[in-house]
Amino acid sequence: MCIRIAVVDDLPTIAIWDPDEVTILVDRGTHPHDLIRELHAILTNDFGAPTIPGAGLTCICGEPLELPQELQVTAAPALTL
Ligand SMILES: [Zn+2]
Repeated sequence: MCIRIAVVDDLPTIAIWDPDEVTILVDRGTHPHDLIRELHAILTNDFGAPTIPGAGLTCICGEPLELPQELQVTAAPALTL
């Protein structure tokens, strides 16, 4: 099952892994650059997702990880890791 990303309000931190939903919850107010970096750290450190230079975030299966629509617009320029 692929990891999903969901944007929520009032998260106490940048991003939290929710194992029940197989979803990484991210805080709506986070700067996209910090958000991408945090997500990348979680995916690679906690899940061993492969790092593909220039490909942005990657799921544990190696597929590109899709950001929620509202993050794609602002996060796109920061996707080059
Ligand atoms: Zn996947």
